Amino acid sequence: LRGEGDSLSPAEKEIEKALRPLSFGDFTGQGKVVENIKIFVRAAQKRGESLDHVLLHGPPGLGKTTLSHIIANELQTNIKVTSGPILDKPSDLAGLLTNLEDNDVLFIDEIHRLNPVVEEYLYSAMEDFKIDIMLDSGPSARTVQISLAPFTLIGATTRAGLLTSPLRARFGINARLEYYDADLLCTIVQRSCDILKAPVTKEAAYEIARRSRGTPRIANNLLRRTRDFAQIKGDGTITMDIAQMALKALDVDEHGLDEMDNRILSTIIEKFKGGPVGLSTIATACGDEAETIEEVYEPFLIQEGYIKRTSRGREATELAYKHLKIVPPGRARG
Ligand code: ADP
Repeated sequence: LRGEGDSLSPAEKEIEKALRPLSFGDFTGQGKVVENIKIFVRAAQKRGESLDHVLLHGPPGLGKTTLSHIIANELQTNIKVTSGPILDKPSDLAGLLTNLEDNDVLFIDEIHRLNPVVEEYLYSAMEDFKIDIMLDSGPSARTVQISLAPFTLIGATTRAGLLTSPLRARFGINARLEYYDADLLCTIVQRSCDILKAPVTKEAAYEIARRSRGTPRIANNLLRRTRDFAQIKGDGTITMDIAQMALKALDVDEHGLDEMDNRILSTIIEKFKGGPVGLSTIATACGDEAETIEEVYEPFLIQEGYIKRTSRGREATELAYKHLKIVPPGRARG
């Protein structure tokens, strides 16, 4: 359901593309971040300069990639897209950098996963728009410095805390995307329904929105699946009944927590007496990677008050017990 790009079928990728906002006007929410970026973009354009480097951070699916494309669109420049783990060695990066034109955007997703050698190579490119290139090899090897076109690096990360300080210091603009509230997600769901020409009632759109973990990507994914239910089990219109039927079939509960969210909570409560318990222990017990739990699941569970992060590990809150309809230990006799 979380549907990162790779796992989608070609038809679904087309849909995803159609739903992706292309301008600031289409991009719902993240008010302050967007307002600021708009000003920086306009100012850079007015001066005919490249936009300062931008770091976008926050949980997956909140619009970091989308916003990067919008910035390039609004700057009327090209965007080249890559990601931290793909850039193996400095020459991979040099190839991209030397192909940039004036004021282009280079988007590096998962920038916290850059190889340290590549990262270091990026510093002079970001700072002076210059890189060293190695010519020949063996005894005649020498490096020459070449100038790059002024460009904007946009780095996206789910883990800003893992960025080294020299890298972080080279971004002039640093923005954190937050989870969306249900009203904003409802606007996004309705916009997507318009694009897909899928009729939806106001209350059904709100129901999907409120159960999407504050995340536009999840809202759009749930919408696509709900539309399937509307076409097969109904008359094509996404009604409240259809939305509830689809969300139930997809194991999304009343509060929008999915199967994995619930598994994490019940593991902490049932296997570890409510915690505190370490992240890697939870991960092993739940059969998922610690990194995924920390980046994808935990931020929302913490924000919504289901778990707490303490120095000794993760703890289930009273709300988590209530959610799973389990009586907290201190209350057992009361
Ligand atoms: P991230 O890069 O943060 O993981 P994406 O930019 O890939 O997230 O967003 C995932 C999907 O959610 C996009 O395809 C887009 O359709 C949708 N989306 C994200 N943010 C918004 C928004 N503010 N308004 C409308 N749709 C959005």
